[in-house]
Amino acid sequence: MGDMVKVRKKFNGTTEDRGRTTKKANAMDSVEFRKRGKEMVDFIANYMDTIAERRVTAEVDPGYLRNRLPGKPPRTGDKFEDIMNDVERAIMPGITHWQHPNFHAYFPAGNSYPSILGDMLSNAIGCVGFSWAASPACTELETLVLDWIGKTIGLPKQFLHEEGTGGGVIQGSASECVFVMLLAARHKAMKELKKRLPYIEDGVLLSKLVAYSSKLAHSCVEKAGMLGFVKMRQLDVDVNYSLRGHVLERAIEEDRKLGLIPFFVCGTLGTTACCSFDNVAELSEVCSRENVWLHLDAAYAGNALICPEFRFLINGIQNVTSINFNPNKWLLVNFDCSLLWISDKNLLTSSMTVDPLYLQHKHDDKTVDLRHWGIPLSRRFRALKIWFVLRTYGIEGLQDQIHQHIKLARLFETYVKNDARFEILGKVTMGLVCFRLKGPNSLTAKLLHMINESGKLHMVPALLSEIYVIRFAICSQNARDEDVEFAWKIVSNEASSLLMERENIENGICTEKVGDGDQKNPDIDDVFPDFDDEIIFDQQKSNLHRARLRRSLFMRMVSDPKCYNTKVLKALCVDKKRTRSTPSENSTELDYDK
Ligand code: PLP
Repeated sequence: MGDMVKVRKKFNGTTEDRGRTTKKANAMDSVEFRKRGKEMVDFIANYMDTIAERRVTAEVDPGYLRNRLPGKPPRTGDKFEDIMNDVERAIMPGITHWQHPNFHAYFPAGNSYPSILGDMLSNAIGCVGFSWAASPACTELETLVLDWIGKTIGLPKQFLHEEGTGGGVIQGSASECVFVMLLAARHKAMKELKKRLPYIEDGVLLSKLVAYSSKLAHSCVEKAGMLGFVKMRQLDVDVNYSLRGHVLERAIEEDRKLGLIPFFVCGTLGTTACCSFDNVAELSEVCSRENVWLHLDAAYAGNALICPEFRFLINGIQNVTSINFNPNKWLLVNFDCSLLWISDKNLLTSSMTVDPLYLQHKHDDKTVDLRHWGIPLSRRFRALKIWFVLRTYGIEGLQDQIHQHIKLARLFETYVKNDARFEILGKVTMGLVCFRLKGPNSLTAKLLHMINESGKLHMVPALLSEIYVIRFAICSQNARDEDVEFAWKIVSNEASSLLMERENIENGICTEKVGDGDQKNPDIDDVFPDFDDEIIFDQQKSNLHRARLRRSLFMRMVSDPKCYNTKVLKALCVDKKRTRSTPSENSTELDYDK
């Protein structure tokens, strides 16, 4: 406490030092903070205003920063000016500018001044809201804004704190939401199984659990299965890249016959690859009939549910157990902020609750303690930034943002459609367009490589049923028609250069062949094997290598969807039956037909 600077309120509402200044050299007092804070706000506003003048991607080599910054921290404090000089000299060159108007990779990283200010206040308050008592406003504002947004997107009342059995909570990321839901579903399934089969080992029961998603679900779903030690089966999608009820139903039936226990489905609203939508109405019907937990991961596209015209995407929500989406993607809220709603809070809290004496408080029977709603104990006051954004823009302002992005995606779609060299894959419903050059995958891969190398635009690829596409996502909060026109010009010009290079090779080869007296017209695909294959095959090789490194054999056996093999499982079942010999051995087996 000795170093703490105490302040008291002046009559004019400002504060002053009470005279006990810090002994730490160069430490920042409130006078200095006011000055530097204003400078920082100016720096941020200038950064935003001039961001378009910067190269969108970083142009540095791995380890670059160690050549620009010392290997040890300073022994005595540095001046603020020196720190800021190093921001521009050392940090900025290594920044990929996600807020740049020519950044079209991944999905948007939400950002806005009200959100920055709300988060600044949250940092200043610096409370750790693990329970209601730890800072009542922190919990109360969180449950309030979750109810506000829940009502706005049309969630049924069971998902609301104010009226229902469930409620909403802020998590750090969609990955955490999916993982936490899988753990809660696993807990529910195990509890039910233990009731029916009290003498069977937990490990044996766990090995029978199986979860499902579509092949296009985000990798975080596979990861949740891996971390949760359950089998994860990735199901085929239809021509619209959508997981359908009958596919799920067939898989569940197949697995029950094999003695497995289906317990969790993660549907996706807005897949990362192409923003397609699983059929919630069909999936929810199957899941409620089969007593399987249905979670919806709507990380990006769920934000569009604030626009009434998209509510049809959650038809069937009455039978959904939980849903998440990230305002930090598309609702002008800065990372981190993923919202998770559950229709029955007991399903979640019963799987997450440990309650030592030092965390209990006298109101815990009447309040919500959000430490029981996720993995961490400590929780930032993240509701403030959402509240600032909601109050500043209003729902209509946020709807405008969504509409503007969709309008711009459609503009880009029109450019692509009007150019016969290109094709579009998937429907453009939100702010994402998946396109490619007609021809082999590697041609589009080369095009993307050239575009990204130019530093003028940034996009990333995806594979849709083995077809390589470039994802063009509208990301900037201030995206305009001119940015899309600019992007299209770059794409089109780079495509022209690439195709011309290819044509030159073709002409060269044809001339050579004609000169050789060979009259046969060569097949175009035979002419360019090196030119076309160079990039994509290198990339595939390194991806495979990385995948092998990533997983231990044990993990692969438990959860890798590529290891889920019905033939192997069938063989195991047959083997088991053959080895049944004594009643005591039989007694450890499960009777799944019950
Ligand atoms: N789910 C979907 C559909 C996504 O598109 C993404 C990321 O883009 C994620 C999950 C992962 O999100 P997070 O980074 O919040 O974990």
